[in-house]
Parts: sequence; structure tokens; C-alpha cells
Amino acid sequence: MGSEFDTRANRLLVGRTLEMFHDLGFLLDSREPEQSMGNPRDFCQILIDLDAPEVRADPALRKNGHTRCYIVGFAHAELHACERLVPLLPFGRDLLSQPEIGCDELYNAAIVLGFSFPAGRITAKPESTLPNAIKWHEDFSAAHPTFSNSSILIAQRRALFPKALPLYPGLRVEGAIGEDPTHELEIRDAGRVNPSKSSSECTRDDLGYRLWGSAYKSKSTVVHSRRDPE
Ligand SMILES: [Zn+2]
Repeated sequence: MGSEFDTRANRLLVGRTLEMFHDLGFLLDSREPEQSMGNPRDFCQILIDLDAPEVRADPALRKNGHTRCYIVGFAHAELHACERLVPLLPFGRDLLSQPEIGCDELYNAAIVLGFSFPAGRITAKPESTLPNAIKWHEDFSAAHPTFSNSSILIAQRRALFPKALPLYPGLRVEGAIGEDPTHELEIRDAGRVNPSKSSSECTRDDLGYRLWGSAYKSKSTVVHSRRDPE
């Protein structure tokens, strides 16, 4: 933090990475969950790769949230069923007046990332207010009682935060509508995703497809076909 690469886009990248980590069923620091990720030094476990092949050719991409982000140091991680009600995005002052978002670690991370700042360098005007996003989560959950929280959050992000980069660009999401939380939802990867299934049940291949779509599938196929003759 504090370097020339400490940009809004890279902070959003860190936010997406932390959300995915929670979706996969983990808390990063279980020692003091209420204070976890509440101090900038806690972020030393999150690395942004400024020399990744994708950004080496174009240094501007290093600042635009397009590089790789890793979580390292799992010594204090533990299993966690995330109950967050909203994505880890800049909500401005709403975060200070409504500190209960269902997950202490991600709330603390939001504060350290500056997502409670008024509109400015880090925080742009949110696409949805925090109370509106929480109400949408509540209404959508009531209309779709069997859906996992990770599926609800995928729908909410698409419905209320369409300008934010998705956590899983490889997924196609249809039927997530801001004005109508009761609308039928369809999530697809290579086939149809069961919305009752939590992201924490994803296999490595499932997650690869969610992140890279058919590009991941074709890479896997290439690797596999090369092995066949052996
Ligand atoms: Zn969580």
C-alpha cells in the first residue's frame, strides 16, 4: 500500500480475491476474527504479481487491476461459511453507519481498503447504496430459499453492480434483475450451474472455468491431449 501501484483498480482486485477466498470456504485469519484484516499489515499476506506475463508487456496494466493476485500464508486460515450480504466494493460512508454486513473479516478489509471513503480517489459513487443492496439480498433470499449464499451474491453483483468486474468472468448469469429480486435466475458455466450449490464445493476445474471460461477448458484439453501419446 502507498506505492504507485496502489490504485483504485488494484484495491478492487484485492477485494475480489478476498471475496473468492471466502467463497471457497475460508477465513484468512481465525485468531481474532473480529479484528482480522483490520490493519494494513494484515494485507502482507496478499500479493499482486507485477511481473506476470499478462502485464509485463504493458506496464499500465499493472495499475489497472489486470494482473494476478495471490493469497499466501494460510497458517491462520480456517473453514468459514461466509454470510456476507454484499460484495466487497466501495460503499462510502454507508459502511460506517451500517457496519454489519454479515462477515467481520471482509468488513474490516473494506475499511482498510478505503471503501468507506467519500467519493474520490478510491471510492466512486456506488452503483447501489449499502441499505439497498442488503434489502435486495434479503428479498432475493426469500424468493429463492434453496440458493447458496455464493449464488445469491453472484446474482446481486450482476443485478446491482453491473459496472463492477465480476468475481467469475467465465460464468454467464441471466435473470438477475435489480428491480425484481424474485425473477428466475440462471447461472451457466460449460453447463447449467445448480444455484443451490455453494462455491465452496467447486472443484479446481470448476473454479478454472469460472475464472477463464472456455479458454480454461481448451488449455486443459491441450495439456491432456499432449499427455495421451505417452
Ligand atoms: Zn466471510
